[in-house]
Amino acid sequence: MVKIALQIKANLECVERVTTCHPQYEWFLQMRCNGCGETSPTWHDVTEDERTSHKHGRSDTNYLAKCKLCSRENSLEILQGTNGEYLSGDSGKFKTIVVFECRGIEPVDFSPRKGWNVVSEENGTKFNDVDLTEKEWVEYDEKNNTSVGISSRQSKIALVTAIEKLRWRIHFSRSTIDVILSRENSTPTNQAERREVKELLHPLKCTNNNYIVTH
Ligand SMILES: [Zn+2]
Repeated sequence: MVKIALQIKANLECVERVTTCHPQYEWFLQMRCNGCGETSPTWHDVTEDERTSHKHGRSDTNYLAKCKLCSRENSLEILQGTNGEYLSGDSGKFKTIVVFECRGIEPVDFSPRKGWNVVSEENGTKFNDVDLTEKEWVEYDEKNNTSVGISSRQSKIALVTAIEKLRWRIHFSRSTIDVILSRENSTPTNQAERREVKELLHPLKCTNNNYIVTH
């Protein structure tokens, strides 16, 4: 499982606070399968208060899908309590607004669409269900007789670092050793992780083919 943060950056004009209507907010994401590396062109919506069940009795999750190319079953979960606010002081800087826990899949792009709540400065007007599909959003705050706006919006997807150290137990034909990585978790699922394990094993004079990674 990998934790991925979604960050946004925008310039706020006379806006105090921008939030999503979570847990009802629909996060529209494009996903990449770590099994085959394929990015699906479809935008998938993921909502915190909507859950779907695994077939084999494993706990339910916010998003579950089988990759069309490699048939791997991948899932994604919105980490509870990670929904953040974008405030006037954050203007012009990237800030994390949600964290996803990903299994076999990673979001690669985000489309903000509708469902945002915007509050103007100076105890001004509250705008609900704002649509941020366009890069610029401008409204008139009648309480303060001023225009308010969100512009130059960008988003990026970042790997959450400084995650607790976990252990990859690597069994060799003759002996067992533990390799401790500062990255999180389990089996190496993508090429970068496999390369990392290969580099770790290189000084031990082992090749990729003679070990099995277990949880
Ligand atoms: Zn795949």
